[in-house]
Amino acid sequence: MTSSSSAKKFDLCIIGAGPGGYVAAIRASQLGLKVGIVEANHLGGICLNWGCIPTKALLKSSEVNHLLHNLDQFGFSAEKIKFDFEKIIERSRAVSKRLSGGIAGLMKKNKIEVIDGFAKFLDSKKISVSKPDSSGSPYLGGSSERVSGAMGVHTTVEASYFVIATGARARIIPGMEPDVENIWTYREALTPKALPKSLLVVGSGAIGSEFASFYKNMGAEVTLIEMAENILPVEDEEISKLARKSFEKQGIKIHTSAALKSLKKGKNEVTAIVEIGGKLEELKAEKVIMAVGIVANVENIGLEKTKVKLNKGHVDVNGFLETSDANIFAIGDVAGAPWLAHKASHEGTIAAEKIASKLGKYDAKKIHAIKKENIPGCTYSMPQIASVGITEKKAKELGKKIKIGRFPYMANGKAIAMGETDGLIKVIFDEKTGELLGAHLIGAEVTEMIQGYVIAKQAELTEEDLMHTIFAHPTMSEMMHEAVLDAYGKVIHF
Ligand SMILES: Cc1cc2nc3c(=O)[nH]c(=O)nc-3n(C[C@H](O)[C@H](O)[C@H](O)COP(=O)(O)OP(=O)(O)OC[C@H]3O[C@@H](n4cnc5c(N)ncnc54)[C@H](O)[C@@H]3O)c2cc1C
Repeated sequence: MTSSSSAKKFDLCIIGAGPGGYVAAIRASQLGLKVGIVEANHLGGICLNWGCIPTKALLKSSEVNHLLHNLDQFGFSAEKIKFDFEKIIERSRAVSKRLSGGIAGLMKKNKIEVIDGFAKFLDSKKISVSKPDSSGSPYLGGSSERVSGAMGVHTTVEASYFVIATGARARIIPGMEPDVENIWTYREALTPKALPKSLLVVGSGAIGSEFASFYKNMGAEVTLIEMAENILPVEDEEISKLARKSFEKQGIKIHTSAALKSLKKGKNEVTAIVEIGGKLEELKAEKVIMAVGIVANVENIGLEKTKVKLNKGHVDVNGFLETSDANIFAIGDVAGAPWLAHKASHEGTIAAEKIASKLGKYDAKKIHAIKKENIPGCTYSMPQIASVGITEKKAKELGKKIKIGRFPYMANGKAIAMGETDGLIKVIFDEKTGELLGAHLIGAEVTEMIQGYVIAKQAELTEEDLMHTIFAHPTMSEMMHEAVLDAYGKVIHF
């Protein structure tokens, strides 16, 4: 083992270069701070390398496959449609690689020093960064991810402030550990050697539902099991039920209120024992994807040497991403739900501005605490699902008097012309104030459309403002207008 030491000094040092960390680094550099960023694996974090981006590349391929098999509605026919599964996976990896390379360019452009290695706090203002030497590196089995910095070359970094942006990893249920071969996490599901004939997806959140959609559209037999009463359990119940109907129509088998009890590996298949409605059932599949949540990366980073406190497994922060240690901030997945890239990036900006204000380089009055109720959530399955704000059930639990508007895709001209007639837009307003409490969408392109409602919520627009807004015709966005009109008895086309 080799060992060397050299101290680097920064105004701000960020640990982890995912969408939280690299955005914080760029914003801090724009504000005149001397910034360093430590990354143990790949620039871009989970999002660019193992999350948001490669999944969307795969989903595009499965959409193309679906379209090619449903050409007749557009007046086309094609014979002997084939695909090269290896090429589909290669394309997804190439897209990730290209974007990760782009982050390296952005770091250079913004004069941010990238330090390759695993960071660990020595105290609140100092970390050690270790890089594996040639004798091997501390990798997490199967995932090829570095999770500690036990061996190798060490560098010491001192900074006035640190931001912890170490992200999260797949939650593993003891006794049902992924084995790379047959029991997968999202990592193996993104890089399969071949298309499995049958697949069991455990967990129907965004990640589970996207993989179920991809593999089904590529031709695998897919079963989705969910512990909660509905699939996509954080979504509005009405939307979850429509998603289930659509998934089932496509041939995905679904079991809800279903608890996975055990997994038994056979030679060419896995047997799952699942409790469904009080009865134990045996489900068999060639591969299993475990998509049962994520766990914050808080271990092995020397938090015990700081005053940082944890809350239910993640770093405890306030709305400005300050931890209980005055010199340390935390952002993104490591700082708790929702586990979304755009939440991480936005928190990165807030943290960078707050730190710059403490160093006298930014006006503290310009900084706003994060408003979690305005963070949109998107699932890129077929159909897509998108939402912002609270569900109908939550609004009722809060005792709000509400007005609900709905508009179906089958009544929208553009949707019919595009052959996309399955879907619904639902909006919930506070009857007293006209505040948009929630918007819940299912159907083609809703992950693009949701942004209109996010802007409306952020700008605190009322139903009146939305009704007075002119929407272009013919667009699917017109349904956003019609749903608002419907809430107030003024819908035109339905
Ligand atoms: C399959 C999948 C699909 C997803 N799809 C979406 C989507 O469509 N939209 C969306 O918004 N979100 C999506 N997500 C979630 C999204 O990827 C995360 O919310 C996002 O990556 C969080 O960003 P982050 O910066 O907090 O952490 P990460 O992206 O996890 O980055 C953390 C980085 O820190 C590094 N690191 C960890 N510890 C250390 C250390 N001690 N020293 C140095 N470096 C360290 C890691 O190597 C990693 O690169 C998806 C996730 C998965 C798994």
